[in-house]
Amino acid sequence: MKLNGISLPHKKGTENSETVELPCPESVIISMSQHMGAPCTPLVKVGDEVKVGQKIGDYDAFMSCPVHSSVSGKVTAIGELLLANGKTCKTVEVACDGEQTVSEEVKPPVIKDKQSFVEAVRESGCCGMGGAGFPTHIKLNYDESKGRIDSLIVNAAECEPYITSDYREMMENTDMIIGGVKYIMDILKIDNAYIGIEDNKPRAIKLLGEKTANESNINIIKLKSSYPQGAEKVIAFSATGRIIEEGHLPSDHGMIVINVSTVAFIYNYVLTGMPFVSRRLTIDGDAVGKPCNVRAPIGTRLSELLKFAEADIDNAREIISGGPMMGMSVYDIDTPLTKTNNAFLCFKSSPDDKEKVQTNCIRCGRCIKACPLGLMPAALERAYDSGDRETLNKLKINLCMNCGSCSYVCPAKRDLAEKNQLAKGFAMSR
Ligand code: SF4
Ligand code: SF4
Repeated sequence: MKLNGISLPHKKGTENSETVELPCPESVIISMSQHMGAPCTPLVKVGDEVKVGQKIGDYDAFMSCPVHSSVSGKVTAIGELLLANGKTCKTVEVACDGEQTVSEEVKPPVIKDKQSFVEAVRESGCCGMGGAGFPTHIKLNYDESKGRIDSLIVNAAECEPYITSDYREMMENTDMIIGGVKYIMDILKIDNAYIGIEDNKPRAIKLLGEKTANESNINIIKLKSSYPQGAEKVIAFSATGRIIEEGHLPSDHGMIVINVSTVAFIYNYVLTGMPFVSRRLTIDGDAVGKPCNVRAPIGTRLSELLKFAEADIDNAREIISGGPMMGMSVYDIDTPLTKTNNAFLCFKSSPDDKEKVQTNCIRCGRCIKACPLGLMPAALERAYDSGDRETLNKLKINLCMNCGSCSYVCPAKRDLAEKNQLAKGFAMSR
């Protein structure tokens, strides 16, 4: 058996761009909603002095994790940010003092067992760095009564075009990745690890292979370059052959899937206690003068990042947060960097270099062939257009992960993935 996928141009023009540090900005806007789940409540007020790594937001909901200050300085505003889903969340704006003084709160956590590890990861503010932002401590806090976890899957596929931030993590921070894998395997008593890397990254495969040559239980898996190879269900299947059934989590099938940069972050936190306050991201696109990988404090405005990369903002036609397949168009140039932003792409032309003229479906079936989950995108579109909730549910609209493969291959240029996003909400609204 094999899962469907599509072939995309890689456009990884920044793969050899070593990560550079963004100079500390004059101020940052730190969102209280950077993870999947309940937003945090600010723990500071206007006028408070804050330091790097100090907790400035938290909430006690099951699906949440804290937010920390990425800079030292003074809180100048508690504001609001409009999110992509139309909701708003609180923000904490901090004027930086340029000193980057580290908070006394920052110290290595005391970890003795699985529970203290889970609590430490929550306190670190860690959520998946690959884009979805699922709080990592929830993944690690699996229900042991459902069976043993025997496999750690490290997601290093990075299958979206343009993005190379995980690749640079592998090339620049290899030892932290391996250290993190070994630490997680040890504390959670996991037998084997599988680091899945697409075959368009041969240098990373070689480097990680060399570094793990004496680790018989850490396996480097060379994955075919095929989109969306990095989707959780797809990489879990590619690495282990196990199918994550509908309504199940990877842990129900003995696996935990964690992004490669997240693994390195966790290990750095275990060693230093520095929570999630900065990240590496790719800045690329044909409107960018100096495409690069840059490490920046969380809360840095997009305008600062684009200026740093010498982007021609005045002539930009579209700015995308994330990759061209699953990313979202950015409507505000002062959008702050969050924990899940692995890239900002700035284009003068359309990212797929073709004008989009939508025509009628010709029933070619390419969308079905492309869907990694075997869904029927054309039929889903028809059901949504006719308001047929029952058929949408029968056709399993809930499984769609909005990977965009169906839209990409459609010769009629139909907005299938976008429709599916709307259809999902419609189907679940009653
Ligand atoms: S790929 Fe486009 S044209 Fe072909 S069946 Fe699907 S929706 Fe119709
Ligand atoms: S967007 Fe949904 S329906 Fe389309 S290919 Fe991806 S998973 Fe399948």
